[in-house]
Amino acid sequence: MTTALIYLQDTDRLTLSATIQAIETDDKGTYLAFNQTVFYPQGGGQPYDTGYIEIPNQSIPVTAVRIIEGIVRHYTSGPIATPENLIGQLATQHIDATRRHLNACYHTAAHLLSHGVEVILPHCLATKGHAFPGEAYVEFTGVSSIPDSFKLLLESTLSAKIAANPSITITETTPEAFKAACPSLPLAPFQTATLRLIQIGSEHPIPCGGIHLKHLAPLGHMLITKTKLKGDQLKVSYALETH
Ligand SMILES: [Zn+2]
Repeated sequence: MTTALIYLQDTDRLTLSATIQAIETDDKGTYLAFNQTVFYPQGGGQPYDTGYIEIPNQSIPVTAVRIIEGIVRHYTSGPIATPENLIGQLATQHIDATRRHLNACYHTAAHLLSHGVEVILPHCLATKGHAFPGEAYVEFTGVSSIPDSFKLLLESTLSAKIAANPSITITETTPEAFKAACPSLPLAPFQTATLRLIQIGSEHPIPCGGIHLKHLAPLGHMLITKTKLKGDQLKVSYALETH
């Protein structure tokens, strides 16, 4: 049975009761699987959550999280006492709030950066986001040149969007309805029956299964740290001075 992804419902949720369904080992180490999880598994250019699992008389650290064939694997570096007695038991999941918030900021910022670049370069298309703090960037295609003032223009565009502090909403639709509404956006990576869409204020919606803020203000100040144009591919690196 696949893991119910409760983290999709609310970025601010930090704990969850869940039933332990498996304790196994693969080439990354020993992991626990549950019927549901609040831990974000690595994917979509966003790092995984860390935290711990609370069960009677034990606290098990979670040091890495992955999703494989619909099952979220919560890896632990610590020993697990009497694992054979834990299957079917209820546990409480706790995620690291600081790391979750920072990851949500950097991932949300990648979406915002895409919208900001589209203002300056209307014909570009975002193709890849890597929202790891310290090494974050978004790549675009369809860029022939960028103006000399690109960095300043982009930073002021982003500052204005953050200052307006719009709400960020999550909705669901079908691939067909999304294609009809946004014919210029690619659908290829999204093969499921329902599409989860994130929308920042009145910007166009984007299909995404990541973790997002509810408003833009916590992004603080967004810095463009590097731009690199190679052929028609533009890579824009960024950092945040969050608050
Ligand atoms: Zn997203």
